[in-house]
Amino acid sequence: MSTATKHFGPGVDTSKFTPFLPSSTGQPRCCIGSNRHMPNIRWYGVMVKSKSGSVVRYDPNEISFCQYCGENGFKASEVFEIREEDYPGLKANLVCDAASTKKYIDIVGNRRCVLRPFTLPNGRTARMQVNVNLTDKKDIKWCPVLKGASLHDDEATAAGTLRAKIPTHTYWQFVVQPHINDLDDLPDDLWFKIESAKFKDGREVLVTNQHGSTNIVTPLVIDRFDGRSAGQIIVKSYKTGVGGQNFFFVAPATQEKDSGLAAEHDCLSNILELVITICRTKPKPVYRCTSRGGDVMRGGTSKGGGVMRGGTSKGGGVMRGATSKGGGVMRGGGGALTGGSNFGASGFSENIKTTRTIETEFVDRVACTIQLVNDETNSERLRFAKMVEDQTQSWRDAEVERLARAQEVLKRGSERSRGMADVLKTQASHLV
Ligand SMILES: [Zn+2]
Repeated sequence: MSTATKHFGPGVDTSKFTPFLPSSTGQPRCCIGSNRHMPNIRWYGVMVKSKSGSVVRYDPNEISFCQYCGENGFKASEVFEIREEDYPGLKANLVCDAASTKKYIDIVGNRRCVLRPFTLPNGRTARMQVNVNLTDKKDIKWCPVLKGASLHDDEATAAGTLRAKIPTHTYWQFVVQPHINDLDDLPDDLWFKIESAKFKDGREVLVTNQHGSTNIVTPLVIDRFDGRSAGQIIVKSYKTGVGGQNFFFVAPATQEKDSGLAAEHDCLSNILELVITICRTKPKPVYRCTSRGGDVMRGGTSKGGGVMRGGTSKGGGVMRGATSKGGGVMRGGGGALTGGSNFGASGFSENIKTTRTIETEFVDRVACTIQLVNDETNSERLRFAKMVEDQTQSWRDAEVERLARAQEVLKRGSERSRGMADVLKTQASHLV
């Protein structure tokens, strides 16, 4: 059962689950998102090496991370807590920079994406990057997901696997684009397409255009008035152009697994294998032919707002050294790492609009894997399972009530049938 409604039963309302729903103890379950202020949570600045080689605080006025990102996307030694006593009043003004990849990549390195190298026609190497974001049902509220900071996470990333730790009962999406630091090396005639995207349970992702074709390509770079930007593909559903198929991640509680109530695709549908092809525009032949080309997607797919989904927002900062005071940092959630299940849930993903057809030739191919994992405690996962159960229970209660009312109406019969019953009774009394 691969849709949320089929698995949990009718009455489930996945729109109630957003990335900003706190845990039972009121803690953030993921990044608080861009441009949001939250002075009551912990905030983190980053530690960097100064010119003299000593490790110093990078000015938190320039770069700061929310509690979740600071405690899950970095090693304890890489961050410092921004305390009120050291920076009076600052916490009220801070925003989380996790989405602003370009702003911090040269300072603290790649924290968000898995990078896969490919060879350009001129023999040089460039990289594609893939990252994961969390969204709500309507894809309005969203936040980035940083990679984990453990040795296992580093090894996984090096091998091309993005282990994205995400909270249970969350809509999510992935973004494919060229690495932001490689844009200047990319020729204008290069394109990319998602050759295949398949979950381990065998379910395939179909990114289609308005004609239903999956043969669509996206430019690697787009020349805009404000410079070169990366062409992006954002995928948030099993199939574009239809409703009810948006990605929705669930990490079942141990009790659900033990009782055989977890999805049969649990720990399979949370693994997505991606193959991305790089191609280039074929030089125009001098004769006419009827070969099949790919459709072309013009323009980027990033949406409005200050920060682009794939992490290409610009920024920068001046490093002002300060002496590190260290401090204890809580790391990650309390639970052991577990897999989970991915479902199709209500929500709509538009088709990618294409405008014309071009002929392309193969340049290179990269593969990468996204694995969704969850480290929330079992009681937390159970709490979310109960929220769904309560939704379906109140739907059933309402349905029972509605059917009982309908039963009453049927029993009473219509005015005519009641009148007819009286007539027949009266007539029957005259029979001998
Ligand atoms: Zn954050």
